[in-house]
Amino acid sequence: MEITNHERIDTDDRNLCKLAISELGAIYSDLNLSQEELDLLEMPKRSFIVHFPVRMDSGKNKMFVGYRVQYNDARGPAKGGIRFHPELTLDHVKDLSFLMSLKCAVVNIPFGGSKGGVVVNPKELSRNELEQVTRGYIRAIANYIGPFIDIPAPDVYTDEKIMVWILDEYERMKGEHVFAVVTGKPVELGGSKARSYSTSLGGIYVLEEAMKRMDMDKFGVSIAVQGFGNVGENAARILHDRGYKVMAVSDSKGGIINKSGLDIKAVMEHKKGTGSVLDFEGSTNITNEELLICDCDILIPAALSDQLNKDNANDVKAKMVLELANAPTTKEADDIFFDKKIMLIPDALANAGGVVVSYFEWIQNLNNDYWEEDKVLERLKKIMITAFNEVHSLCDENSCRMRKSAYQLAIKRILHAERLRGNL
Ligand code: NAD
Repeated sequence: MEITNHERIDTDDRNLCKLAISELGAIYSDLNLSQEELDLLEMPKRSFIVHFPVRMDSGKNKMFVGYRVQYNDARGPAKGGIRFHPELTLDHVKDLSFLMSLKCAVVNIPFGGSKGGVVVNPKELSRNELEQVTRGYIRAIANYIGPFIDIPAPDVYTDEKIMVWILDEYERMKGEHVFAVVTGKPVELGGSKARSYSTSLGGIYVLEEAMKRMDMDKFGVSIAVQGFGNVGENAARILHDRGYKVMAVSDSKGGIINKSGLDIKAVMEHKKGTGSVLDFEGSTNITNEELLICDCDILIPAALSDQLNKDNANDVKAKMVLELANAPTTKEADDIFFDKKIMLIPDALANAGGVVVSYFEWIQNLNNDYWEEDKVLERLKKIMITAFNEVHSLCDENSCRMRKSAYQLAIKRILHAERLRGNL
């Protein structure tokens, strides 16, 4: 008798990835995966747990724990961010590294997927302690990363300053320059032009392609963006610059709306001055909950996960949702949107622009040849639009939702690479 995936989690101690099992479970029958294919996808290739001491400002040593999971690297070196978070767990890192494997495969860049991080609250560290934690973690994993093995990048609570410490520590250990070991660096030290806004712009390229399919006119639509950080603010700014009407935006303190459209550059200035988008002249303050169900045509969640859920999905009025945040829509909301014929462009595709430009950064570092912004944008556009068209065609063929098509495409590509290598 065939055992179910659920039973296998309980009875097996094989370091399985629960997310891989649940996502695969949902598309298992459509892809007709064999047991050996499932076995290969359900567990990460390599997981590292490291413990390392850091000399704190008090003069005393403190032990830290770090993780790095290289989920799959059949298609190329593993690629994934480094997160500093007090609640980081190995299971969560496994899930995130599985998602990175899928994301790189959806946009068809020659990378596998990884993720890592340190269990730490960076807000409780001094600048010196933060640097020592970063360097200690890199010393502990240095033999398992590298430009042709696994390439880290920024993630939650890590930034380009931390990427430079990673680069510097790695180069000290190797005794040579190795810019391609990490991405998300400042332009002056091997970073790529346009990376800072690549996630948002990549999503907008995909959005514009989707609008063509839905016969939506640029000048006839109104847009609401949740989140006004790196991704949300850049998305709102680029859309505004391209002539779209962005009618609502929000940050953690709340949102603002003006049905005739907001002057995003002025909102950015206002936020710089006051610390929030709230109370912007000529707009009305709204809650984040009101923003999600406002009368817009396109909704862009660009803040936190699980924002669109069973409690509000039925009230969403948008005809299209572009997931720039990671996992902003719960499974229940996804089902409701499908029933309501709301087009949902899933995170694995919508926010992949950042990792695509990371790939460009890696290429530039390896060739020691740096591209003008125009070249970065042209190549980003091509990759994003190709990926959208591939996912959308699959969606049309199978009358299924785009998230499922994106995962199917990614899984097929990963398994094909494994087969070519003789691993299946
Ligand atoms: P960020 O920290 O720069 O910005 C987050 C924004 O969300 C801030 O404006 C914050 O005020 C706002 N926010 C927090 N709580 C909120 C709430 N309850 N309601 C509304 N807004 C709230 O983060 P970011 O880099 O812009 O990332 C945003 C999302 O995009 C995350 O899900 C992240 O994983 C995802 N993402 C980011 C990148 C990237 O390149 N930065 C790439 C892929 C995916």
